[in-house]
Amino acid sequence: MNQEERIKSLRNKLHTYNNAYYNKDESLISDLEFDMLLKELEELEKKYPQFYDENSPTVRVGGEVTKKFESFNHNYPMYSLANTYSKDEIEEWIHRIEKKSGQNINDFSCELKYDGASINLYYEKGRLKRALTRGDGVKGDDVTSNIKTIKNIPLILKGTYPEKFEIRGEVILPINSFNSLNDKRKEQGLPLFKNPRNTASGSLKLQDSKEVALRGLKCFFYSIIGEKSSLYHSELLEKSRLWGFFIPESMKRVKSKDEIFNFIDFWEKKRVGLPYEIDGIVIKVNSIRVQNELDFTAKVPRWAISYKYRAERQKTKLLSVKYQVGRTGAITPVANFEPINLSGTVVKRASLHNSDQIEKLGLRIGDYVFVEKGGEIIPKIVGFDKLNRGNFHDLIKFIEYCPDCGSKLEKIKGEAQHYCKDENNCKTQIIGKIQHFVSRKAMNIESLGSERVILLFQSGVINNIADIYKIKIDDLVNLEGMAEKSAFNLVESIKQSKKQPFSKVLFSIGIRHVGETVALKLANHFRSIENLINASYEDLTSVQEIGNKIINSIGNYFNNSQNLAIIEKLSEAGLNFKIDENKNKSNVLNGITFVISGTFELLSREKIKQLVFENGGEFSSSVNSKTNYIIGGQSIGPSKKQKAENLKIPIISEKDFLEMLDT
Ligand code: AMP
Repeated sequence: MNQEERIKSLRNKLHTYNNAYYNKDESLISDLEFDMLLKELEELEKKYPQFYDENSPTVRVGGEVTKKFESFNHNYPMYSLANTYSKDEIEEWIHRIEKKSGQNINDFSCELKYDGASINLYYEKGRLKRALTRGDGVKGDDVTSNIKTIKNIPLILKGTYPEKFEIRGEVILPINSFNSLNDKRKEQGLPLFKNPRNTASGSLKLQDSKEVALRGLKCFFYSIIGEKSSLYHSELLEKSRLWGFFIPESMKRVKSKDEIFNFIDFWEKKRVGLPYEIDGIVIKVNSIRVQNELDFTAKVPRWAISYKYRAERQKTKLLSVKYQVGRTGAITPVANFEPINLSGTVVKRASLHNSDQIEKLGLRIGDYVFVEKGGEIIPKIVGFDKLNRGNFHDLIKFIEYCPDCGSKLEKIKGEAQHYCKDENNCKTQIIGKIQHFVSRKAMNIESLGSERVILLFQSGVINNIADIYKIKIDDLVNLEGMAEKSAFNLVESIKQSKKQPFSKVLFSIGIRHVGETVALKLANHFRSIENLINASYEDLTSVQEIGNKIINSIGNYFNNSQNLAIIEKLSEAGLNFKIDENKNKSNVLNGITFVISGTFELLSREKIKQLVFENGGEFSSSVNSKTNYIIGGQSIGPSKKQKAENLKIPIISEKDFLEMLDT
């Protein structure tokens, strides 16, 4: 077999394994074997660029960066759906379309209404050519490179398919992928995503397709457009399953109104257990001929309607509102009410979000409020019973002072949230900050979990992050649940944490918006906390990708004398507030600027960055004439590759890079 044939055969195999795994839940080979074949293909593609294929399985890992998504007109507009909450209206709809088409209609397709972002895919000669978002229905954005990273979307079709056709589907984020994404963000101190639907549609517009590849998106298909090889919608979808598209098994062809109602009732009960969110069901006339007769109104097809499930709703008495203080000082009002049962769980509180929300609702303690739990996981108060109100004097007024430390709350212009700004005296904020400081990605003080931090704070052993380094075994042994051995371990792990490098210390002290990567950049650029404290606005803007939000936050932090005092104490305790220049392996990378692209085997991206900085090198995020080398991993971004070729910048492997350090 020559190289071209080998490449083709690898691509075919990988497409097949991929489809079996993501659409049929079948593992035809082990993950390891899959990865090895993919790697072999990647290497061959690198070696023989003349056999490039834009739909190769290697594009799924992403790499292309889109600065601006181009928009295109849809060949067929993407309409909304008429919707209803009542079965009577479904019955009326059937009468209406029977009257309009002059015939009995007794063939329908019932489907779930998957809750995500709609997408229109265009295929030609069995290959995915273009993916457009719905946009305004007439024009959508070209998100092809992002769509190609979604593993259950076929890039090359199987079987006998039409020469050209369009297929529509919903890109969704399964609930467990959504949860693990948020768990990761929480760990990194990033704001959490609100719900799977918004996250799915936001993901399609990410500039870096590699990031999209990591999100765990899926696509469920629900309609084929402009294809006449079948008389029935459901048959077309069944066929498309054979070409490699994922059509959920829940789709059902039914013959009568009663069967439609059964479908509605069945999924009303079952939807809570689904691994993804739906916001109702869709009923479609199944005959394509009748669909064409019925046609569209200006906004919606006449031949389809969606039935939306009412969010489960209960009425209960509002008992009180408590205000919670977050680690950053943000205040969240929480309503407590008499316990109710919603979708199988007992609920007794719900967030009221912010003062605007409270004002809008005009709630009083003692009101009977309606609490809903829809597709969303978190219950919310949606209104109150106007005939059953609490006392007028008990109108809820948003607090003016922090419930924890009593300082006056502030509202930042343009933000909905109130903040307690007294970050060094407000207990909840201090505890939150200590918990962040000791966490794994920060100072990594293993034996000091969140509960222990609270215990030590409440018993007066520590009052701030600096006190951690004063803890002695004697301070601990009398505390509840603290045996001598665990006291010893705790003191030991505190001692160990002093070895954390400057970048980690900078991340740990909890400057708002200074996450792990920003801390690493700042540390490597300024080399010491002193330089950072004294940095001018211009100095800070000269650090790549550090914007005004971060600069303001750094300024605020260092303008606070209590923060400076804590830094001084931590420094006295022996923490690293500067880069140990002697520890630098060398200055071999002095004056050399690198760009990283692709995924790596031996080193993580963070490690590569660290090594570059530690050896005197620099980084930039885009390839330009100042770039000296690109450290390229697997599936290096095609645009970076192109630029590198144009500018004749060498692309080196991680091994080459390590060799550079050894010289
Ligand atoms: P709406 O946005 O509420 O007007 O509903 C129309 C949208 O529902 C479409 O653009 C699709 O994105 C989405 N949808 C989800 N599941 C289906 C389905 N089974 N059939 C048709 N549309 C669906």
